[in-house]
Amino acid sequence: MTSGFRRGASEGMRIGVVGLQGAVSEHIAMAEQALSEEGIEGEVFWLRTRVELDDITGVILPGGESTTISDLLQERDMFGPLAELGRTGLPIMGTCAGLIIISASGGEQVAHTGQPLMGLLEVEVNRNAFGRQRESFEAELELEGVGTYHGVFIRAPAVERMWGDTRSLATFDGRIVAVQRKNVLGLAFHPELTDDTRIHRLFCRMCKEYAFNG
Ligand code: GLN
Repeated sequence: MTSGFRRGASEGMRIGVVGLQGAVSEHIAMAEQALSEEGIEGEVFWLRTRVELDDITGVILPGGESTTISDLLQERDMFGPLAELGRTGLPIMGTCAGLIIISASGGEQVAHTGQPLMGLLEVEVNRNAFGRQRESFEAELELEGVGTYHGVFIRAPAVERMWGDTRSLATFDGRIVAVQRKNVLGLAFHPELTDDTRIHRLFCRMCKEYAFNG
């Protein structure tokens, strides 16, 4: 662990949305609503500094531009510590660009840029899997553990390959668009751009479980 202190469940959840670039405020609003619907005490905040990682029960990595978010995380010395927390059980949800950052590989597209990835999900992603013809679209998905879900895709990545403990939660057009590996969730779409809180509620329950049981 990078931090010697973990907030106890009785003190309430502290969920940070990495707020360096991208769709941050929508995630904050959704996670706040999800906490209240689940009846879980806690707060959701813009996560921008390394020290804020010392007292945290969950992290959301938003969509945006994965290279920009990743560069900013490194500049602030948050990339390594966050990856380490993810490896030791902290619930992390990465959406769209966030999914790319927590993956193990981005194939050739990412390899040639030298951009580091956290390797929390045993997946290889294709950064812009749906190409120019389908820059953005919406689709009904069957999401394991949630049910039918309206996915909003914007320049979305997809999972090309998967191994180890990582499993698929949803596919679209034969491509994997949602995965989970224990405490880590990766989504190719944007759950913060709907008014359906079920995914954020699921994530809040994972955070509560972590705070109680580690
Ligand atoms: N494909 C984008 C990237 O590589 C992610 C797009 C998004 O987050 N909406 O960063």
